[in-house]
Amino acid sequence: MVAERFESALWETTSLLLAADGQAVLIDPGISTDEVARLAARAGALGAEVTHVVATHADWDHVCGIAAFPGATATTSEGTAARIAARGPDASVAERAAARGIEIAGEPRVDRTFAPGSALALGPFLLETLSLPGHTPDGTGFRCRSVDLLAVGDHLSTIEFPFTTSTAAYRGTLAALIDLLRHDPPQRVIPGHGPELTAGEALAVAEADLAYLWELHEAVAGGATPDAARTAGLAVPLPRPAADDLAEMHAHNVGVALAERFG
Ligand SMILES: [Zn+2]
Repeated sequence: MVAERFESALWETTSLLLAADGQAVLIDPGISTDEVARLAARAGALGAEVTHVVATHADWDHVCGIAAFPGATATTSEGTAARIAARGPDASVAERAAARGIEIAGEPRVDRTFAPGSALALGPFLLETLSLPGHTPDGTGFRCRSVDLLAVGDHLSTIEFPFTTSTAAYRGTLAALIDLLRHDPPQRVIPGHGPELTAGEALAVAEADLAYLWELHEAVAGGATPDAARTAGLAVPLPRPAADDLAEMHAHNVGVALAERFG
């Protein structure tokens, strides 16, 4: 059995290739057509046909390679399928990619859905699925015990910090991941961006990210007015350095926390 991580030139985005018994499963294949072709070539070199593709969530950088595998079964959570279906033409994946100067295979499709928490049998692999909301509502983790790894989508990255759609849901996800990493650690933890981690390294990231989100919560909760709460939230330090364009997401997180407090 083979489990290999590939990295896009954009945001160190992760694609995973699992192969065994002449079949391959791809998790988040991406991003550019050339990068996706490299995944397909590697599967071919291993004598494996790509029979399944899955996605950790519906953000464009994680679903843009699905169209390159028309013969495979594309499987996502019900929430990811709903987000893909709800996307208007003005927010197409191709348009988001083109804005970054990247050519992609095409718009994603979904052939089969699952409820998070259920186990997925994909060819020779059994994937346990975990609901990981917080970055997006549809975040899904995949644990494959036969290759002893856990793919966590856009959480636990050492090159990012939490980018939230819900700070409350994100705290819950981190608490669940911390519990898992302490009590049932996988050999390899694979974030959606940046290098793969040991369980111990992933635990340190999770604890730092949870501390950041609690500090943000307390700062916003302590401001008497929305303006005071925003100022206090913006003063909360990031849990780790990030590129300038990513660091802007801190202000977004403050906005999310403000909306959660003031409506
Ligand atoms: Zn991402």
